[in-house]
Amino acid sequence: MPPRTPSRRTGARSPRAARPTGAAAPADAPSSATTPDSTPDSTPAVDAPPAPEAATLTLAQQEARTSEITFADLGLSSAMLASLDAAGYTRPTPIQAQAVPLALKGRDLMGLAQTGTGKTAAFTIPIIERLMGGATRTRAVILTPTRELCQQVEESIRKYSGGTGLDVISVYGGVGYEAQTTALKNGVDIIVATPGRLIDHLEKQHVIFDDLEVLVLDEADRMLDMGFAPQINRIVAQIHPYRQTLLFSATMPPEVEALARKYLRKPQVVQVGRRSQAAATVRHCVYPVPKHKKMDLLVHLLREAGADDSVLVFTRTKHGADRVVRHLGDAGYAADALHADKTQAQREQALARFKAGETKLLVATDIAQRGLDISGITHVINFDVPQQAEDYVHRIGRTGRAAKEGDAFTFMCADEIGMVRTIERVIGQEIARISVPGFDFGT
Ligand code: AMP
Repeated sequence: MPPRTPSRRTGARSPRAARPTGAAAPADAPSSATTPDSTPDSTPAVDAPPAPEAATLTLAQQEARTSEITFADLGLSSAMLASLDAAGYTRPTPIQAQAVPLALKGRDLMGLAQTGTGKTAAFTIPIIERLMGGATRTRAVILTPTRELCQQVEESIRKYSGGTGLDVISVYGGVGYEAQTTALKNGVDIIVATPGRLIDHLEKQHVIFDDLEVLVLDEADRMLDMGFAPQINRIVAQIHPYRQTLLFSATMPPEVEALARKYLRKPQVVQVGRRSQAAATVRHCVYPVPKHKKMDLLVHLLREAGADDSVLVFTRTKHGADRVVRHLGDAGYAADALHADKTQAQREQALARFKAGETKLLVATDIAQRGLDISGITHVINFDVPQQAEDYVHRIGRTGRAAKEGDAFTFMCADEIGMVRTIERVIGQEIARISVPGFDFGT
């Protein structure tokens, strides 16, 4: 794809120049959790030295601070160390280095981290450590906004809990009840659930929360955006107040702060990267292009793609996604669409084919923007500029995951110039413009 070969670019700054530089952090700065102004509890946590400036550190700076920390330093069991080794992880990511020791101590935690930072393991590792060896009772519930995210969290737990005998299931809508009901009635240690379906099971008493010790609210901002607040409230009402609560969110709007204030007890705040910061391993660029030429520009860029490139295209609407898939088909490119009108089976199949590398092109609406954990995506293409700056960060979070590099292209027509400027302000970074002769505004 073009940005990997700068000489082909015309009239553009190098996208690499647009990458956050991540200046080295002062050596004496604490590497532990931070307590920014937004701490939802007026009582500061005692074991976290406040480091106000750390709240604005970039991910690269935090990586520099935590780069000496090993998994062994976090106080993990040898079984867990072996699982992490088997997963091929050499060091904890900054959110893991900060969150895991605090969660192991039983603290409530508010993790401000975008997807791609290793945040899932930041809560699954301590949960497994806590539950390992106990009797099978439902002791942990993880609430997530989407079924895709449920499946990924479940996968993460399975990966790190091999050999511990812990049972985990995912519970989400869009599929039959029977298998979930049977599994719940048989007893599981950890439930990963979307709020709506979990309520259904609770009401039918397929599961009870008498022994619940840990509650995780994952992607809390997204859950509230999706209108899950009433369901979350009903679920939390059934859980013992002396639980441990871990809340993770990419952003901290007032609604999430209110949720944290309501449900967390003296939470420790851990934060990775600046708020709204885009993944540091991604090269961003914007292609100015008239609306009617976007399809052709996409095909033009794909022609220059490497055979191994794996491309996730985002459109604003479901129809837009279908249109792009059709157009790509006409141009000889096989692509799958992923959006809310597809059945669960179609969505799973599209994802599986893309993950396995059988399809190199997936066209998705924002349904897929969060939680999709597909390693090896080389390019995210915003066929339409996202309507919210935060969505840009999340879409882009699909590439450059866990220190791998990726490219993020945004097609910008005249109507979208203002939105791109807003995104640049929010991510605190100017995005390089790439002008492709024959496709830009002047042609
Ligand atoms: P997440 O932010 O939780 O969605 O994780 C993003 C990706 O990073 C997943 O593919 C994880 O398997 C991977 N990952 C998590 N922790 C580490 C680590 N310490 N080292 C390398 N990769 C990791």
